[in-house]
Amino acid sequence: MTNQTYNFCAGPAALPVPVMQKAQQELLNWRGLGVSVMEVSHRSSEYQELANKAESDLRKLMGIGEEHAVLFMHGGASLQFSSIPMSLLSENKTAEYIENGIWSSKAAQEAARYGKINSIPALQMDDSGIRSLSSPSTWTRSESPVYTHYTPNETIEGIRFPFLPETNGSLIADLSSCILSEKLNMSDFDMIYAGAQKNIGPAGMTIVIVKHELMDKMDFSRVPKVFNYKAQAEQGSMINTPPTYAWYLASLVFEWLLEQGGVEGMEKLAHQRANLLYSYLDSDDFYHNPIAPEYRSLMNVPFILKDESLNDKFLKEARSAGLVGLKGHRSVGGMRASIYNSMPIEGVEALIAFMKEFKQQNG
Ligand SMILES: *Cc1c(COP(=O)(O)O)cnc(C)c1O
Repeated sequence: MTNQTYNFCAGPAALPVPVMQKAQQELLNWRGLGVSVMEVSHRSSEYQELANKAESDLRKLMGIGEEHAVLFMHGGASLQFSSIPMSLLSENKTAEYIENGIWSSKAAQEAARYGKINSIPALQMDDSGIRSLSSPSTWTRSESPVYTHYTPNETIEGIRFPFLPETNGSLIADLSSCILSEKLNMSDFDMIYAGAQKNIGPAGMTIVIVKHELMDKMDFSRVPKVFNYKAQAEQGSMINTPPTYAWYLASLVFEWLLEQGGVEGMEKLAHQRANLLYSYLDSDDFYHNPIAPEYRSLMNVPFILKDESLNDKFLKEARSAGLVGLKGHRSVGGMRASIYNSMPIEGVEALIAFMKEFKQQNG
């Protein structure tokens, strides 16, 4: 056993070690100011520089052009899926919600307070309990939805959209658990949001990427000013005090990502990690992943032990072996290994080695 700990928690999730080291190094004295970045004004020239650099790095990483605004907001992904319908829906307008898991269903429930919802159940299960997405040809669509909301990676179920849904409205995506892990064509998306605590930084901040064209269609007359995307874009996401430390850590993560070959590098690594883990799970009937191969998440890998009475023992021994955060979501049970951008391939190898040994001793 080594001293190395690998954190598989779904969120808040592991951050890259070099990022944490840099943050530690400059914790008490940022940029020679003699104080922490936590302690300076968000309106100081030093902080403004950080904020601008973070935005331009994120634009570079994701290929975001001038047609989109990039916002650094408070409140998590849940605030975003609550605030979007507030500004886009009303009693006689319809939005489509493709529901392929718990988060997309929560988003739909929030939206239903503000307008008509066409909820499209897209998750299906076959007789042997294997889950997949239903074919879009079976979906009942709306003729002219204001927007279609979907969740490319459902974090709890571990299910991923291998395609882009078509829509007659604006396309809005909750990318909380897969942002910066796969290359996207930004022009496909009218709006993207992502809570930071999975692939970007600590909890407390949310990235919003929204087309100016879509903001022009929003009605902000009845929403709190801090939820007014247009005003936030005009004021550099600083209508009020932003989550400055989370923003700072995100800026370090963006710099780290650029050093690691950007999103292309991350996508390659994501496939390597996922292939390694799924191949092992498929090769061994002691463990089992309940998602059809085509729809498996690259980021969140749920797995079930054949003998579920061994769950507690598995978690306890994994923890002693330096593998933490493996407990599955309470609604799904079993285990879940979240393998975000910051997870090195060695972490997955260590997990598989542990699983093999655990099987040998308990199988
Ligand atoms: C984690 C998660 C959320 C919720 O994020 P909060 O920041 O806690 O509101 C929403 N959607 C997805 C896909 C997530 O993974």
